[in-house]
Amino acid sequence: MRIAVLPGDGIGPEVIGAAVEVLKHVAPDLETVHGDVGLECFSRRGEYLPDETLDLIRESDAVLFGAITTPLKAEGYRSPILRIRKEFDLYANLRPVRNPAPGIGLVDMDVIIVRENTEGMYTGEETVDDEGVDLKRRVSRAASERICRFAREISESQSRKSVTCVHKANVLRKSDGLFRDVFYEVMEESVIESRDMIVDAAAAALVSNPQCMDVIVTLNLYGDILSDEAAALAGGLGIAPSANLGDGHALFEPVHGSAPDIAGKGVANPTASFLTTAMMLEHIGRTEEAGRIRRAVTATLSAGHRTRDLGGGLGTKEFSEQVLSRL
Ligand code: ATP
Repeated sequence: MRIAVLPGDGIGPEVIGAAVEVLKHVAPDLETVHGDVGLECFSRRGEYLPDETLDLIRESDAVLFGAITTPLKAEGYRSPILRIRKEFDLYANLRPVRNPAPGIGLVDMDVIIVRENTEGMYTGEETVDDEGVDLKRRVSRAASERICRFAREISESQSRKSVTCVHKANVLRKSDGLFRDVFYEVMEESVIESRDMIVDAAAAALVSNPQCMDVIVTLNLYGDILSDEAAALAGGLGIAPSANLGDGHALFEPVHGSAPDIAGKGVANPTASFLTTAMMLEHIGRTEEAGRIRRAVTATLSAGHRTRDLGGGLGTKEFSEQVLSRL
């Protein structure tokens, strides 16, 4: 099997470099091929996402992605990650959020957020006139159906307790109303409990009563915001993994960005990229190796080894060495 490795910018190469070492350790048989992407790639080659990188993704079984810095002058800039999501129809954004070890995070939670990745508020179709800007917001039956189906399958395969559809159908009656109706249609014969919640109530519940939340399925913008909120509550951006999944391709990335403020200092927390690697391994059927990585990360954190974002003093390299020694 072949893994495309796209480290990108900022702390991307630091945390993905550490993740590849871990990957090589647990699954030495996997072929890893590095590809170019991002702002640094643009400064060298004049393009953010070269065709050869797209070909590499096409020919790989999974993609391990770091982060990209958005240029200050974003005129004409098209986000490579949005382009990849569109090109390969990666319609589901999957973000499991749980505390990586006891005592880390502000509240305890074990939540899976399934976010619709292709439409909603992120159509990018903005029209400017003299008075302001119009934005096209799209909610289609087909996209709602496939994301709700995806959430149902994840919940059933992992024997979760409930799926909550998060929306704002009290105001956006037709569009979010359609999403909620499709959700109940899809869940009709499932053994998993299904319910729905208004997005503002869901945001509050994640803080005040996170144990009532299990799997959440939601529209693009709400999922974007709720998943960062949940990650912050469970230990911060340094610990949060994610996947972008379609029917034929899969891209795995830490939730955090390129963190220019700490890039090159060797202090980034690689936990998110280790847990991202575990998600990727699970996706390609290497469940045993995925479990080994997760257990090594938990054991390392439980033994008190922490990077600076979690109140410790270790750098990326020292923390990674602790994880590797446990593997
Ligand atoms: P970008 O524009 O690429 O999204 P950003 O700095 O706006 O970058 P993030 O990269 O997500 O957004 O970073 C937000 C904050 O979290 C920054 O202060 C950053 O240093 C911190 N942070 C993000 N990831 C990590 C990490 N892996 N380890 C430690 N701190 C991190």
